[in-house]
Amino acid sequence: MRVLPLEKDIIYGPLFSRRLGRSLGVNLLPTGYKLCSFDCVYCHYGRTDVKTLVPKKGDFPPMRRVLTTVEMALRRHPDVAYLTFSGNGEPTLHPHFPSIAAAVRRLRDDISPKVRLAIFSNGTTAHFPHIREALALFDAPILKLDAGDPETLARINRPAPEVKLEDIMDGLKEVPGCIVQSVLVDGRVSNIRGEAFEAWVAALAAVRPAQVQIYSTDYPVPEAGVERVLPYVLKRIAEEVEERTGLQVRAYWF
Ligand code: SF4
Repeated sequence: MRVLPLEKDIIYGPLFSRRLGRSLGVNLLPTGYKLCSFDCVYCHYGRTDVKTLVPKKGDFPPMRRVLTTVEMALRRHPDVAYLTFSGNGEPTLHPHFPSIAAAVRRLRDDISPKVRLAIFSNGTTAHFPHIREALALFDAPILKLDAGDPETLARINRPAPEVKLEDIMDGLKEVPGCIVQSVLVDGRVSNIRGEAFEAWVAALAAVRPAQVQIYSTDYPVPEAGVERVLPYVLKRIAEEVEERTGLQVRAYWF
């Protein structure tokens, strides 16, 4: 079951979010299917159609069209707070992601220097040096870390076979200004209880991001038995993790 339809173009929005305010989305992924190195149990786009860390070339929007579309969008919406790379899966899987990130940054600097650049990435490519260098071009590199042990990673994020937790953590540690976002869930799979929770806290302490943002699923979850974590529990967890790690932790909910 798909909860939200896939994005139909390169630019979508502007959307409003509590974290970023008014933001234009940038989708570098194919528009006909979801392509990601994860298949998270809570994904608002439903199941991953093509799950890989090494996608075949073919269905991605060409760089020239991405840049033309972004330029037009920046001129049409000069008042947005963020230009945010996200879309129908994992944005860093576009084969020309580093060149696109650099060119979009130059466009932003020329046309709308006040617009900030954000990216939502699942962190599975951040250990590749060329991707890490590209992530450093973003004002807000927001990278996922839902699990601190391989079993919980497998149960919540259901990664492609090539993905390793230690690679994700190595990558996150090296991205300048890295903001970790963690989606907390309970029920059939949980990262808020027992050993899974302890491993996640230890992983955050090891990565030491600039900030941790926690939230839970906002829409009906497409998978039976996956439960939303309520706001008062998120608040309690944020306080506990701040106290135990010394990190800045923010809880978000709708
Ligand atoms: S990483 Fe993001 S796009 Fe990919 S499956 Fe998870 S929630 Fe969906």
